[in-house]
Amino acid sequence: MKIGIIGAGLAGLTCAWYLKKNDIHDITIFESSGEVGGKLKTAQLNGFLLDRGFQVLLPAYPETKKVLDYKKLDLQAFSKGSLIFKGNKKIPFYDPENGLSALIQTVIFGPGSLVDKLLLLKLKLTLSNTHVERIFENKNRISSMAYLQAYGFSGRMIQDFWVPFYQGVFLENTLETDSSMLLFTFKMFAESGAAVPKNGMMAIPQQLVDYIGKDKIRFNSKVLHYNQSAICTDEGKEEKFDKVIVACNLKEDTTYHAVTNSYFETDKLPINTKHIILNANRNRTINNVVLLSNVAPNYAQNGKHLISVSANGIHPEPTEFINDLIGLFGQEVKQWKLVQTYLIKESLPKINYEISYSAAAQDGVFYCGDHLIQGSINGAMESGRRTAEEILKAV
Ligand SMILES: Cc1cc2nc3c(=O)[nH]c(=O)nc-3n(C[C@H](O)[C@H](O)[C@H](O)COP(=O)(O)OP(=O)(O)OC[C@H]3O[C@@H](n4cnc5c(N)ncnc54)[C@H](O)[C@@H]3O)c2cc1C
Repeated sequence: MKIGIIGAGLAGLTCAWYLKKNDIHDITIFESSGEVGGKLKTAQLNGFLLDRGFQVLLPAYPETKKVLDYKKLDLQAFSKGSLIFKGNKKIPFYDPENGLSALIQTVIFGPGSLVDKLLLLKLKLTLSNTHVERIFENKNRISSMAYLQAYGFSGRMIQDFWVPFYQGVFLENTLETDSSMLLFTFKMFAESGAAVPKNGMMAIPQQLVDYIGKDKIRFNSKVLHYNQSAICTDEGKEEKFDKVIVACNLKEDTTYHAVTNSYFETDKLPINTKHIILNANRNRTINNVVLLSNVAPNYAQNGKHLISVSANGIHPEPTEFINDLIGLFGQEVKQWKLVQTYLIKESLPKINYEISYSAAAQDGVFYCGDHLIQGSINGAMESGRRTAEEILKAV
């Protein structure tokens, strides 16, 4: 069986991975760029590893667990929880798993009231006993913000913790994203925390390619037209296939959230933490700051430190970040040097969860990708797996 896949992002690569695992070897992946990974790329610049947009893997993701060899990725873990900066206060929000001191600090100084903390514990316990599939089966479609309010969290807890944290997860500011994603990601964060591979996020797609074989990928080959049995690229060639899989958003009918991610280098860390730092100040631009090389030392060489700064929307002027950063860390920020800024117009897709994703062929063509199911590494890989399973059924 001859398979043509359009797109060497996670969805396309995962689909090819499962097909090969099931003895389908005649696979060609058409990739318009010169690299694999799609939205998951890492650049190397002046001794720094720069992920194209700050991203993390949640090792508890059910789909990544099935496919990836975490040991080979050499995952570098963030501390569970987060550190919230508000005014001149640093509010600890540490996972009790970090020890008794973490628990005590969070109970006494953490965000929100005691009732908020009990509600949080209740949510965590409920989710630990809820299967991921059950979370997405729930047809009661409400936004994450509406869910948190209905759950009973106080306005202060929502503003000091939920909003800054989830602005950085959903890459949108109002938490309009469906509550199923809130519950899913909260469960994942609670179970495993977050991590990055030692050599950057691109090690994830690279590991898939190591198994599939680089020779299966046709780089710099942009697909212009396709149907159920043929693919035509910008080289003007038409090739025949038994099955065609579109693993990218060729219909361009999805809207995306935009995000800006700047990387700074410094000789001295402003604070020694492996937590994600949340900015809970009013009128903020920046969502979060991450001392990346403190978590994953390979991200910076030559005794330097690499700091990731993210803000939703497009902010071409790095000076826009400086005031926020000075507010968070003081005047020493003026010594930081900008390494690179990524303006990412298409980050996470806005999903219509009313329409449930089907991996079955439409007009004979198979479609997968995060934009059809869920904007995450897990979503992209799930769609790739399910498409491969549909194809295997038809063999
Ligand atoms: C800034 C940012 C932060 C994120 N943070 C996280 C996070 O922390 N955790 C998490 O789980 N997820 C995160 N995500 C989401 C995750 O990275 C994506 O959901 C996932 O990588 C999407 O994979 P995909 O294969 O569906 O799509 P893509 O990665 O978009 O892959 C599509 C591929 O198709 C190729 N292509 C497009 N058109 C053509 C054509 N005409 N011909 C041939 N090839 C074509 C593209 O070049 C690309 O390689 C983040 C994403 C971004 C952008």
